[in-house]
Amino acid sequence: MTETASPTLEDFEKSVLEFLDSNAELRSEEHVEWGKGSDSVALFPEKSPEEERCDVETAQSWRRQIFDAGFGWITGPTEYGGGGLPSSYQARYNSLEKRYRTPSQGPLGIGLGMVAPTILAHGTDLAKDLYLRGMWRGDIVGCQLFSEPSAGSDLASIQTRAVRDGDEWVLNGQKVWTSGAQFSDIGEIITRTDPDAPKHKGLTMFVVDMHAPGVEVRPLRQMTGGASFNEVFFNDVRVPDHHRLGDVNGGWTVALTTLMNERAAIGDTGAGIIGVNRTFEMLMALGSMHREDPIARQQLADLYVNMKAASFTSQRALAKIRAGQLPGPEMSIAKLSLTRNLQRIAAFVSHVLGPKLTADTGEWGTYAWTEVVLGTPGMRVAGGTDEVMKNIIGERVLGLPKEPTLAR
Ligand SMILES: Cc1cc2nc3c(=O)[nH]c(=O)nc-3n(C[C@H](O)[C@H](O)[C@H](O)COP(=O)(O)OP(=O)(O)OC[C@H]3O[C@@H](n4cnc5c(N)ncnc54)[C@H](O)[C@@H]3O)c2cc1C
Repeated sequence: MTETASPTLEDFEKSVLEFLDSNAELRSEEHVEWGKGSDSVALFPEKSPEEERCDVETAQSWRRQIFDAGFGWITGPTEYGGGGLPSSYQARYNSLEKRYRTPSQGPLGIGLGMVAPTILAHGTDLAKDLYLRGMWRGDIVGCQLFSEPSAGSDLASIQTRAVRDGDEWVLNGQKVWTSGAQFSDIGEIITRTDPDAPKHKGLTMFVVDMHAPGVEVRPLRQMTGGASFNEVFFNDVRVPDHHRLGDVNGGWTVALTTLMNERAAIGDTGAGIIGVNRTFEMLMALGSMHREDPIARQQLADLYVNMKAASFTSQRALAKIRAGQLPGPEMSIAKLSLTRNLQRIAAFVSHVLGPKLTADTGEWGTYAWTEVVLGTPGMRVAGGTDEVMKNIIGERVLGLPKEPTLAR
């Protein structure tokens, strides 16, 4: 797609459909037949390293296909490999692609949803040249290296140090809960460059090569069984200065760009997790088996009403983003609604399944729900905890006084 050949939305739709028709299968109406097919309802990937590698490669291969056809980065600037088109074209592509069966882009989500937009906003020209096209083409996978053992909600307390050495920086420290670090090529890392400055002011952000000497990734197993995130250690890892994102000691502003995009990405995913899909149909099927139970009926009706309300809030927030506006506190409301609804699902399945949820009898559609019950606490923490979301809503929506802080 070139700058001079901006198509009309109708012509664009025609070329998207031509591409999808020749490269993907149309999705047929799928309905859950109790006892048939997979009964997985996992919130987090529960894969072996081999299965995970295969998922990553499949995601990359589809991304290459769509990128090479001109649909991989529809709204991106043309000088970095994007299509240079307005977000309405991306929205049209997304709605058309949904009709087809295409590989999940999950493994690339953090890189494309958070890291790439931050490189575009704050990277040097060289970093943009080196990474953006490759990321959007699926050749380069990115991860987010923010949290540390003593810095999560209070991100500005991070301790990983970066010390300047000529044209390079030397990084030492530890990150934790890094999703996808095990298959990432680059990471967006926040470091402390001035330990004497107030904590939000002494931070600097970099793009770090995850294959560089001194980077060590160790998997962390979560209670659902999988190991989709990691601890990452940095021992004298050298990063060139042109891999700095934003100003020296200006890392907090850069972090805010990433966090804003993170909330938007989670809101988008949330709608998918418990929207009308296989998991939802399995839930309804389970409900119909317990239609005589008044508590189960009430739980399900409550869940349904709250899911509808949450989906309208998400749609409002996403419409704002698509219109080029900043996602506001709606993203916090959307995230909080998502985790509350997951808790409602967990309570419902616990009520109707009882002991079948704690001991695996091999019966289809029963023990599998532990994936939701045990995965929900992780969702309540990832991307900003429930309590932090409540603070944002309290302060920015309801106008309550700011909570007291000990920060300098
Ligand atoms: C599945 C998953 C994936 C993740 N992936 C990544 C990743 O890829 N990269 C990355 O950098 N990080 C990642 N994280 C880390 C995540 O961002 C942090 O876990 C999160 O920010 C919370 O930080 P913490 O774990 O240190 O908890 P803490 O901040 O220590 O919180 C502990 C408890 O205290 C509460 N609390 C904290 N501050 C307040 C306050 N001001 N008011 C009221 N209550 C408060 C919290 O709500 C929580 O209940 C991931 C986490 C999960 C669960």
